Amino acid sequence: MSLMQWCDGEIANAETFSAPLTSHALHYGTGVFEGIRAYATESGAAVFRLPEHLERMRKGAEALGMEFDVAQATEAVLSTLRANGHRDAYIRPLLWFGGGGLGLDVEKLSSRLMVATLPWTSHLGTHRVRLTVSSFRRNPAKSLPPLKLCGNYVNSILAKREATARGFGEALFVDDAGFVVECTGENVFMVKDGQVTAVAHGDALPGITRDAVIQLTGAESRPVTFDELRQADEVFLTGTSAEIAQVEAIDDRVFGASPRSAEIAALYAEVVRGKRETQRGWLTSV
Ligand code: PMP
Repeated sequence: MSLMQWCDGEIANAETFSAPLTSHALHYGTGVFEGIRAYATESGAAVFRLPEHLERMRKGAEALGMEFDVAQATEAVLSTLRANGHRDAYIRPLLWFGGGGLGLDVEKLSSRLMVATLPWTSHLGTHRVRLTVSSFRRNPAKSLPPLKLCGNYVNSILAKREATARGFGEALFVDDAGFVVECTGENVFMVKDGQVTAVAHGDALPGITRDAVIQLTGAESRPVTFDELRQADEVFLTGTSAEIAQVEAIDDRVFGASPRSAEIAALYAEVVRGKRETQRGWLTSV
């Protein structure tokens, strides 16, 4: 059975929709997307921090000079989830420059909006991840703003390919001055002597999971050097898709048990499923 998708105001079978080979975004990465999750809660499916995700998408659209109607996107996300009957799901909205030419002057191009939702069976008992320091530098914010612009992700993909080839699960970006930036699709945290610290860096995507963990734990947010990260007691990653992922090793530095990270992961798992009264406001009912 094919999934239903939303595109330019219409919901239909995924096969119904198509995009021309001359779509501008296909050639230049001129689009903006989001990665959002819906979870099964006791009162039905709910989307975690939907307004925050769509606000970040709006900023990306603004950077490219694209029109983006947040209210329409909200409705598109919710109606696609309903059409597919999803409960635990991954939600992928994409706004991209479609037709109007292949020049680099995008002012006159028309944009298109789509939403796909995919079933997601929650992966309980996830394994700990092994990181390797990338030989690639993160896109500097002065060259590419840290937003979910499609083209930005070539940087992540190159780093991920390198990490995979080296036999690691994920790549860690470190800058020229020795500061930790982020991973290819996650932000970085450390725990040292009981203190939880969110790695802050101007080139890193302002993660919504990162923000949630800071609010839930009272973690401090500050720049962290790679040397300091190596000396941490625990390291974990945050992301919509990865949730709270414990780090087993960074290259030859192997971390021991990570009880605080496990605790935070368990708390986050409860929050996203609506089991914590005080954070119910982060959920939008489907
Ligand atoms: N950094 C990058 C580069 C990402 O792609 C993501 C995933 N969106 C994150 C961090 C984590 O952000 P969030 O918690 O909002 O998913």
